[in-house]
Amino acid sequence: MEETVGQPADAVIAADQERPIQSGSDAAAAGTECDKQLEEQIEGHPFCEPWEDSDLVLTVEDDTFYVHRQILSLHSPVFKAMLNSQFKEATATVIPLPGKKENEVLDFLKALYLKGTAEITLKKVRHLLKLADEYQTQGVLDLCVKCLRDVPKYEDNVVTILFLATDTVMARNDCRLDGVRRECETLVEDMELADITGKSDFKNLNRDSMESVLVRRSKRLETCLKGVYPQLVGLVEYCLFMKLDRYASGEVSRCPQHFPRGGRNVNKANRDLVQRIRKCSVCRGMIQQLVSSSVKKQSTATASGYGFPVLSQSLGAGSRVTAPKEYLYGGSYHFDEELITLLKDIDKLY
Ligand SMILES: [Zn+2]
Repeated sequence: MEETVGQPADAVIAADQERPIQSGSDAAAAGTECDKQLEEQIEGHPFCEPWEDSDLVLTVEDDTFYVHRQILSLHSPVFKAMLNSQFKEATATVIPLPGKKENEVLDFLKALYLKGTAEITLKKVRHLLKLADEYQTQGVLDLCVKCLRDVPKYEDNVVTILFLATDTVMARNDCRLDGVRRECETLVEDMELADITGKSDFKNLNRDSMESVLVRRSKRLETCLKGVYPQLVGLVEYCLFMKLDRYASGEVSRCPQHFPRGGRNVNKANRDLVQRIRKCSVCRGMIQQLVSSSVKKQSTATASGYGFPVLSQSLGAGSRVTAPKEYLYGGSYHFDEELITLLKDIDKLY
């Protein structure tokens, strides 16, 4: 069937090339946005006058498209049924397509007639898929599938591509798009929720796709959180251990209730960190001491930065809040008193 319809399509291509199309493919490639460009694109299109024994006229808005009954029937079972039915369309030479847009029908006919030579962009796929679905045109769907598979996917377009790959019945049921859908969902997993929901096509996603996107994102975060939580707690415990070590400067003092009073394991807590900071103010104080010890004291900053009092009060809502904190350690990220609240909060999610 594909080969059969290929012949008239080739003839069309030749005719198309001879006609002075107003830079048809170039304009299409540029993704025409404004009406002026749209008019230029439609004006002088290859279907604007009788050609190659065309025997049917489609009227769309104010435009007419000269086409071939046989080609439409070959490509579309819907047109075939319409043109061979008992209805008036069977003998009519002019068939109006109310509700359709000129530029969209033009793209559809170009895709139908020109096949691989028609330029398909993501923007065109949106209406081409709808028309392919409505007229059951496998050839147009094939071009859209190719475009969706080939187009590079990134954060800006991935929600739109997922929408297009799941919107129409034909696209949704096409297993060739399974990989596209998986690729999109995997990309979306790493996007922030605000970036996902902020995309205009997010609200257009069908219920299943939307649910899939949100669930996968949630699972991704949950998995990550479950990995981070024990690592974070372990690091804090180790920091406390190091600060309590006999060689440490004594900036952190041991909670007598939650650390052994003597013996070899004197610096090992007897209860988990979050339990300690939830119930014990002395253990919360240990975290505050740890935070204080990680910041250079403003007034007595020295080359080493060490040697200030056990529990510095300078980090509270004191008078020296204007000066930026100077940390003893490098990197862009730092911990502070929020660690206590955060640990308790993550523990609820964990
Ligand atoms: Zn304690």
